This record gives sequence, structure tokens and C-alpha cells, in this order.
Amino acid sequence: MKKIVYPSNHALLSSNDGYATISTVNLLLVILFVVLGVSGCTEQINTQKEPISQQQFHWKLVTSWPKNYPGLGTAPEQFARWVNEMSQGQLQIKVYAAGELVPALEVFDAVSSGAVHMGHSAAYYWKGKVPALQFFTAVPFGLTAQEMNGWLHYGGGMELYRKVYAPLNIIPLAGGNTGVQMAGWFNKEIHSVQDLKGLKMRVPGLAGEILNKLGVATVTLPGSELYTAMQTGVIDAAEWVAPYNDMALGLHEVAQYYYYPGWHEPGPMLEFIIHRPSYNQLPLHLRTIVETAARAVNQNMLDEYTSLNNQALNKLTTEHGVQLRQLPTSVLLRLRRIAQEVISEMVATDPQVQEVYSSFHAYAQKVQSYHKISEHAFLNLRTLENKQQ
Ligand code: CA
Repeated sequence: MKKIVYPSNHALLSSNDGYATISTVNLLLVILFVVLGVSGCTEQINTQKEPISQQQFHWKLVTSWPKNYPGLGTAPEQFARWVNEMSQGQLQIKVYAAGELVPALEVFDAVSSGAVHMGHSAAYYWKGKVPALQFFTAVPFGLTAQEMNGWLHYGGGMELYRKVYAPLNIIPLAGGNTGVQMAGWFNKEIHSVQDLKGLKMRVPGLAGEILNKLGVATVTLPGSELYTAMQTGVIDAAEWVAPYNDMALGLHEVAQYYYYPGWHEPGPMLEFIIHRPSYNQLPLHLRTIVETAARAVNQNMLDEYTSLNNQALNKLTTEHGVQLRQLPTSVLLRLRRIAQEVISEMVATDPQVQEVYSSFHAYAQKVQSYHKISEHAFLNLRTLENKQQ
């Protein structure tokens, strides 16, 4: 595996950071007030309610990422620190990188079986077990990070997410979002869909199904294997994340052309998955801490990627000679047409996919009608200003 390069100005807050400490204290106070329902009546609560459980919990959290991998790997570490601090050590979570306890793509099995208490991964890795789970990571030509978070937390998505996972003994939580990704790394230029035919490409989820229809042999590999797989010709193209993460894997050393936009993952979501019986054993205030810390990590990852992708892209193009390319419009339009066909086929044959996608699609229609005159209109305005300068 390629040695991972860590950015020197990594943005995640450490537990020793003054801001983190202040935020944590404030958050703890807010949670305690919410959980206890305190509004100047502490004495009354102490006399009328059961005392808060002081039982200690020690959890294991397995991930699909290399040790301390920027963003994806440091997010669950940050989660564990915040939970530990907010619970004053009552719930302690030890994070294991991919391969330390279980391989990267066996996180689901470990959590579902109860071998570990929780995991951090991406739901589309489990598409072979439950196809509907793919829609909780990324839908090609679907929702941005902002829209995905809206669907999940205010548009009915979370209820469906929990419903799909319920028979599998798992409770899911949003675990971060990278924002729009890159289309991937190639060693030849893509001028038409014909140039895609015959490629062996690492690309998981629905995008893999779509590219299969254009003659691409797709495979799901964990990030730690991508550098060697590209170097040895096991694959000849790969999508991973975006500049910040791709540079850390060294993918610029094994591929020349870096294509955009990430049509396949416009707002991909990571996930925390929790073994249901373990979650149910927690007293209410610890459940609230777990959910609040996950929500904070979910937003923090997007903040981090928004800030650091641009810096990494600049380094890739100016110092490493990476050739940046845009996928031709004809290719993107063909991919969009096939995406609609692939999803329609799944909806017609899988009732669970039908239920999830109808919620996703209805929300997308509604949110996009407003975003046309808000986000989209504003980004168009920015382009207009640039052209006139
Ligand atoms: Ca990706």
C-alpha cells in the first residue's frame, strides 16, 4: 500500500484544541439541559426521577479506512473523543482501522452480528446484501451534500434508513459527507463513451451498475488497495473521493488524467452503524450524546473537505503535473440516461428500493424547485460575474 501523506494543516480539531474544549463543554451543557429537562428545577428532578445510570460502557468501533486516514478515518476518531468528553468517560469508544479487527468491507457483518458495537463506513458497500442501502450513500445525478442532509433529517430519509436497517440489527446515523467528488483517475483521455469500453475501474454503488452498461468492468476495492491495484494493472481507472483524499493515497503517481465532475457521487454520505442491542443498553443521556456527536461529525467532515480539497487540487496540478479534464457533455448525458434506466429497473423489481427511491425522488423534485432560484441561481451569478471581469 502507498504510504499515506498527511496534510500539515489538517483541520480537524484535536481534543487539546481550546475551541474543541469550549465547544464540548457548551455542547455537554446543552445536552444535559435537554436530557434532564432542566429549567431551574434541578432539585425537583432529583427528587422525582430515577438517578442517572453511572454504568461504564466500553465500545469497539471498526472502520473501512486506513489508520488516521484524513477525513474518513479521523472522523470516527473525533466522534470517539467527543463522546468520551461529553459523557465524562462513561462511554469510551476504541476506534479500529480497516484490517485491525476486521477487513475494510466486513464492517457491516461485524456490527450486524454484534462482534463489535459499531462501525464507520459507507452504505453502498453493502449493496450485495441490501440493494436499497445504496441510496443512503449516493445516487448518480442525485442530491448534493446540503440536499442529502435535508432529505435525511427533515425529509423522511432517516425513517426509511432505520427501517431498511432494522431487520439487520443495526441503527444507522449520518457519519459525514465529502461534498461533490471527482469522476476519477484515468490513464487515457475520455473523448466519448467508446473510450470507456473495456476499462477495469474501481467504482462502487449504483455508478458501478451504470458503467457496466457501457462495457466497463467495475469492482469495489477498499481505498488501501487502490494504489497497488492501479500500479500493477489490476485496474486501469479508479474513483475514490476528491483531491484531499486522493492525494493522500498517492493516486496522482499511478494515473495521469483526473476527471470531473463527480456525476456519480454529488453528495455522498458516510455512516455510523450501531449494533441495536448495544444501543438499547445505553441510558438516554448516552444515546443523546452518541447521536449529537455523530451529527456534529457529519457536518464537520463537509467543512473539512470544503476547505482542504481546493488546496490539494492546487498542489496536484502545480506540483505533481496532474492533467485536469472535464468529462465531455455527450458522455455525461449518456450516463444520465443510463442512470435513469438502471434505477427504473431496480424500482420495478425491488419493493424496498421502490419505497426508498420514491421518497428520495419526491424530495429531490421539491428541493430542486427552490434551489433553482437559490443555490443554482447564485452559482450562475458567480459564473456571470467571472465572465464579465
Ligand atoms: Ca467515491
